[in-house]
Amino acid sequence: MDAGAVEFPRKETRQIMVGDVPVGGGAPITVQSMTITKTADAEATLQQIYALAAAGADIVRCTCNEPEAAEGLARIVPRSPVPIVADIHHQYRRALEALEAGVHCLRLNPGNIRKPEHIKAVAAEAKDRNVPIRIGVNGGSLDPKLYEKYGGTVTPEAMVESAKQEIGYFEDVGFDLIKISVKASNVPLMIEAYRQLSEVTDFPLHLGVTEAGPPPNGIMKATAGIATLLAEGIGDTIRYSLTSDPVDEARLGRALLESFGLRERKNVDLIACPSCGRAEIDVYKIAADAQDAFADRQIPLQVAVMGCVVNGPGEARDADIGIAAGNKRGHLFVKGTNVAVVPEDEMVSTLVEWAEFITSEGIEAAMERAKASAPAARRAAEEDRQRNLNEKGDDANDSEQIVELMRKDR
Ligand code: SF4
Repeated sequence: MDAGAVEFPRKETRQIMVGDVPVGGGAPITVQSMTITKTADAEATLQQIYALAAAGADIVRCTCNEPEAAEGLARIVPRSPVPIVADIHHQYRRALEALEAGVHCLRLNPGNIRKPEHIKAVAAEAKDRNVPIRIGVNGGSLDPKLYEKYGGTVTPEAMVESAKQEIGYFEDVGFDLIKISVKASNVPLMIEAYRQLSEVTDFPLHLGVTEAGPPPNGIMKATAGIATLLAEGIGDTIRYSLTSDPVDEARLGRALLESFGLRERKNVDLIACPSCGRAEIDVYKIAADAQDAFADRQIPLQVAVMGCVVNGPGEARDADIGIAAGNKRGHLFVKGTNVAVVPEDEMVSTLVEWAEFITSEGIEAAMERAKASAPAARRAAEEDRQRNLNEKGDDANDSEQIVELMRKDR
């Protein structure tokens, strides 16, 4: 089914602008990531920002933990391809310096900056400069008073109260360019905190599972939390927090939104069969090779790698383009129609070449290109299909033989 055919209604939120990127208010959900360089090293940080933007990040956050970092931001902001958020934890002065450096947004952790007069000073300055602030509540660094109030444990209620308290300080100085996050490393806790928060506020929400850890488990945790909320219509901007290259965070964020149909596809959506007794090739290897070959190409197509020509083209008929293995050769198909036959070692390169052709010229042009080769390709596919069926029969996985054995053993 076309991802566009099913839609998740999104909760209505206000819109703020992070630089020229809208967040909330029905704007496309954005992907964020964070640099891991020293912000004071403007060149290294800019290099990483460019890599993150190329991987799909719409907004990038940099730590502003020392005066040199604020100076770095002054050098980074004018040259950055995406809006920059300054991450502020303990010292409100860094927030004021980051604003002076021209950042497009601040992130304040209410658990670490607690003096109301400091918070209000930052909000007043941000208001003058029309710069939004994310209230970044973190389960691991909750205000100790709230921690005690809720029985010495981090609860969704405590996290929401922390956010509300901060909103109150901002409102005292008439500041409302706010987005909020209530992240925790515990997935159910994070989900419930966001659910409760979305009931009591219409400020845009930034989703994330904090300190999710290294892949693959970190990816599972982050996806479990973020995807659950997105499916409920909650969330305006997302970040995967992984112990991994931040470029992976940006790629994963983008891929998650594309898989939900919440962002237009920018990169290949590679589908592949799980392989079985009928496969005529190492599907895992070809799929991995195809994934590598497409990694840095911006090709917004669904591409299929299938292990046999018996079921491959049919099962992947909705893919824009695909290849199925048969008798030491690859059968290339476009929208389920066989268009060419290539040697086995050219399967991936042919897939890439045709995918690039479709991206620049369109499906109809590809069909036109295939006019001469399609009849022979269809015949070759049918030959290999019959050969596979004759050799492996209808039951390529020998399931019935196993069932017979099971019955005998009873
Ligand atoms: S039948 Fe063919 S396409 Fe389906 S899983 Fe097996 S090898 Fe892959």
